[in-house]
Amino acid sequence: MAAIKYKRILVKLSGEALMGKQGSGIDPQMILQLAGELAAVHEAGVEIGIVVGGGNLFRGAGLAAAGLDRVTGDHMGMLATVMNALALQDGLLSAGKTAVVMSGLAMPQVCESYTQRDARRRIAQGEILIFAAGTGSPYFTTDTGASLRAIEICADLLIKATKVDGIYDKDPIKHDDAVRYRDLDYDLAIDQRLAVMDVAAMILCNDNALDLVVCDINQPGALLELARGNSVGTRVTRKEAKQ
Ligand code: UDP
Repeated sequence: MAAIKYKRILVKLSGEALMGKQGSGIDPQMILQLAGELAAVHEAGVEIGIVVGGGNLFRGAGLAAAGLDRVTGDHMGMLATVMNALALQDGLLSAGKTAVVMSGLAMPQVCESYTQRDARRRIAQGEILIFAAGTGSPYFTTDTGASLRAIEICADLLIKATKVDGIYDKDPIKHDDAVRYRDLDYDLAIDQRLAVMDVAAMILCNDNALDLVVCDINQPGALLELARGNSVGTRVTRKEAKQ
């Protein structure tokens, strides 16, 4: 079996990753597919934390634009991430894994509450941790939640698994001549506002020298390839750490 490069990873799954080919909501087939990919990485010996988004259900900014109070909207968005996390937990349990949802908002009847100490201990024991409710505070996104949790649990790599296969110099949907970066540094990604991850999330990663890889969630085996240290998608690193 190929050697594993990363002992502990944090995978950020956007809410849209869970909706499969549907226009919104959660596709049970997609949940099983994702759970299978994650289980394979775990079986290869990698400790896994996951942050799930909620954009397939609710986003605070969208709700605020429609007239709802912003903080209420963000609370609804965070609750949406909990729903996604529960679905993913179910999929991972079906795949034979021990998976636990830890929420940044306390809801003891539904899932466990996040504490950094608990998370570090349990991930080291082989449990797959699904972090829900982002940072637990409004006006943030789950991208920032993912950077934060990755740093808190001392992950070796943050993977943003999304619908695009990396970071482009311009929107690949609108421009045929868009070019995908293989490697990039945070300064450039932040300066040029490359639409990949929140600036706040990238600043956190940069400050803490945490590498980020953006890859396509629908590419079978991509997570395992990454865990083995192979090049997939686009890698973003802190400038001076770049080789
Ligand atoms: N959210 C929040 N605080 C956080 C993380 C998320 O208030 O720390 C809310 C926010 O309204 C956001 C929604 O939850 O729009 C869903 O998260 P996100 O938009 O990041 O989901 P994704 O785009 O990854 O599916």
